[in-house]
Amino acid sequence: MDKAVTKTNLLGLSPMELEQWFAAIGEKPFRARQLLQWIYQRGETDFLEMTDLSKALRARLDEQATVSLPEVQSQHASEDGTVKWLFASGNGQSVETVFIPEPSRGTLCISSQVGCALDCAFCATGHQGFNRNLTAAEIIGQVWHANRALPARPNGEPAVSNVVFMGMGEPLANYRNVVPVLELLLSDYAFGLSRRRVTVSTSGIVPHIQKLADDCNVSLAVSLHAPNDALRDVLVPINRMHPISELLDACWSYAGKHTNRFITFEYVMLNGVNDSLAHADELAALLGGKPAKINLIPFNPFPGTRFKRSAAETIRLFQNRLKKRGVVTTTRRTRGDDIDAACGQLAGRVNDRVQHRLGEKAASRASKRPAAVGKPAREINL
Ligand code: SAH
Ligand code: SF4
Repeated sequence: MDKAVTKTNLLGLSPMELEQWFAAIGEKPFRARQLLQWIYQRGETDFLEMTDLSKALRARLDEQATVSLPEVQSQHASEDGTVKWLFASGNGQSVETVFIPEPSRGTLCISSQVGCALDCAFCATGHQGFNRNLTAAEIIGQVWHANRALPARPNGEPAVSNVVFMGMGEPLANYRNVVPVLELLLSDYAFGLSRRRVTVSTSGIVPHIQKLADDCNVSLAVSLHAPNDALRDVLVPINRMHPISELLDACWSYAGKHTNRFITFEYVMLNGVNDSLAHADELAALLGGKPAKINLIPFNPFPGTRFKRSAAETIRLFQNRLKKRGVVTTTRRTRGDDIDAACGQLAGRVNDRVQHRLGEKAASRASKRPAAVGKPAREINL
């Protein structure tokens, strides 16, 4: 029998899964902790180099397992310090990962799917269509690689201090593979990040928001982008399945499970579409008095889009209006647009496997097309 075929990739197994794997081969479960430290803290992928394991165990691991990382296709550096990587994801496809350095932190924006089935009207990833879910190894491998490729922070800590699921794909549509990744990000034996420093961004897959609150309560960002269902149905088609009231109920219950936990609401500023003061007032009525922060994102254009970014003055007035109404509001600074690494510009290379896309014209008729609603659900990985 070809042994290579039967080897288990230990990258991406959650701490619990790794313990179970050791138990299954008749080893002490605490070996999992040593292995996590070797892989994620020391960046070692060769079992034979893991010197605090017995020689016999090292040889056994080498025979039965691997630590297989996704392959880096290219690395691009922006003038502002942002770094973007393309990772090969099979069949000539790729996904993108972006590192955004700031004085007090280093944020890694990671991808969870090859493309995205949810087809938000203003998103480059959505325009590419959907091919498949990334495995847990392919997702955590992005963090592993960034920490190896980048110099440590001045305090000696790894370059990546914060992780956001704001790259390609809808993380809560790949729930089964995203949860072990979250556990690895939080585990003291792996990346050891606090829950405040790990953010899942979702366009609003309500049942999985509720599940995440119990399974792995990290920081939550919700892509709202419109203050009413009529507009959100068009901009974020998943809204036709889970409308705003249902989404917000799930958010408040998520926040309520843990004290001092705010939900961040992302709101892309689209010229003439969702950026009037009347929209700001509607938004304030939804979120005022709740544990909510708004993050305005100036729209980042990509080839073939019909949308335009709101003027800087419009964004300023919108933000002031929200603040005046008591809602904490910030505007996201655009980073890395010279290397197409800004929010929503990540397209990678995706062969659309599901041919589900509504297309821009159809999206504007979206609320009249309930049949389209069911389609993204087929790609949701429970
Ligand atoms: N699927 C998840 C996470 C990935 S998108 C989600 O939708 O939340 C990360 C953020 O970028 C989301 O808020 C998304 O709406 C926003 N975004 C998408 N396209 C954009 C664009 N062209 N310009 C600015 N932000 C965009
Ligand atoms: Fe998918 Fe998020 Fe883009 Fe919508 S904004 S298409 S959910 S990646």
